[in-house]
Amino acid sequence: MRRLALHWQIIIGLILGIIWALVSSSMGWSQFTLDWIAPFGDIFIRLLRMIAVPLVLFSIIKGVSGISDGSKLGRLGAKTLIAYLITTIFAIGIGLTLVNTIQPGTLVDQDQRTKNRIEYELWVTSNNKEFADDLRIMDSLSPAEKQKYEKEVATLESQRSENSNLQDKLKKADNQKGSGPLQFIVDMVPTNIVSAVGKPSMLQVIFFAIFFGIVLLYIAKDKAQPVINFVDGINEVFIKMVDVIMQVAPFFVFALLAGKMSEMAGDDPKAVVDIFKGLGWYSLTLVIGLALMIFVIYPIIVQVVTRKISYVDFFRSISPAQIMAFSTSSSAATLPVTLDCVRENLKVSEDVSNFVLPIGATVNMDGTSMYQAVAAIFLAQFYMVDLSFAQQMTIVLTATLASIGSAAVPSAGLVMLILVLESVGLPGTWIAIIFPVDRILDMCRTVVNVTGDATVSTLIASSENELFFEPLGDRVDNFEV
Ligand code: ASP
Repeated sequence: MRRLALHWQIIIGLILGIIWALVSSSMGWSQFTLDWIAPFGDIFIRLLRMIAVPLVLFSIIKGVSGISDGSKLGRLGAKTLIAYLITTIFAIGIGLTLVNTIQPGTLVDQDQRTKNRIEYELWVTSNNKEFADDLRIMDSLSPAEKQKYEKEVATLESQRSENSNLQDKLKKADNQKGSGPLQFIVDMVPTNIVSAVGKPSMLQVIFFAIFFGIVLLYIAKDKAQPVINFVDGINEVFIKMVDVIMQVAPFFVFALLAGKMSEMAGDDPKAVVDIFKGLGWYSLTLVIGLALMIFVIYPIIVQVVTRKISYVDFFRSISPAQIMAFSTSSSAATLPVTLDCVRENLKVSEDVSNFVLPIGATVNMDGTSMYQAVAAIFLAQFYMVDLSFAQQMTIVLTATLASIGSAAVPSAGLVMLILVLESVGLPGTWIAIIFPVDRILDMCRTVVNVTGDATVSTLIASSENELFFEPLGDRVDNFEV
């Protein structure tokens, strides 16, 4: 009997994981799930991330040194960066259009919005911001009302500050904030290659790998060749590791989903539904935008530009990477699988995939940038703050930079959202509002991030005549070991 294709097995794992979480929380077994099942999900992410750093290092070195022709390398680099920038800005554009049309932040209880506005105005007054002269609601309040609201806001704020998880994120963002706009370029240059690889700062690893790969082209052939062979061999080892790990992926994905959902639901499955109800319009707006990218924009661009890859084949080729992105919420952890899918199924050349994908996993986050724009504007609407056109343009710019600066790990986009909010004079602490639904939306936006990388690498391969795709038929890589 033929074995069920791996991506179906993984989807079954995913669904069973969700079912398990719902059953276990309604039976009061959440603690059991967290103690005995969730750790396997963590092991899975650790395994994938363990491979991700050396894979980025060696595949970029291999990619760059394999290109050997300096002008091709320059061309590929320029194309990659331009394509990534265009897709990011495009995604933000879609997000802005949706959030300004649907206006999810206005579709809530009006009383709540008025209260929010007062909270905002109190914040503005106490922070002495330049926007303080724009106060509308506070000016109409009597001193007694003002006092009452001040008390309510203080309670709200103290409740939020008790959330230590959130505080961690705020602290992280605070560290980021202290630096200038070019700090991420400065940070890209490692001072110590061992710590760059050990700590994984992917931008540093990428910088080092490109530098190493280029220099390899400039030393004597007899010295360079053994190094290239070594890199080649070791790269194969890491790719094989992915195949081995993927054999157990269905179980790992089950554990991951069961653990994450139980964490959210606790012993009350209704809690997840309730969380969604409150933030339903916001989540829906974002999910529509993300779905548009995944199901309409990327596959159609690929189909139109390459003229070879059909809609269905596109999904069949990259679905394991998409499922992995959904399960792990991490583009970095998904990278080994993305590389495999793009090379083996879409038949993008190694030169292109080795170069474009690792960089994409780190800097190209279309889903994250769209999310940051939608979330910032939703929150402004929710607090009755009108953002001018110039402020919305600032959001486009900061969301682009913030998505480049976001690490390819869970919740990184949420941390960077604080900077986007603060760039237009809104309090970063507002992320507390959307925090409850963030994990699920993170899963969805990571799918967009990964699909965007796969799309761009396919387009670039096609423009370089290095796309060797043949209609799939039965030929889908099943990660056979
Ligand atoms: N989890 C996302 C990724 O790894 C980043 C984010 O938006 O939080 O691509």
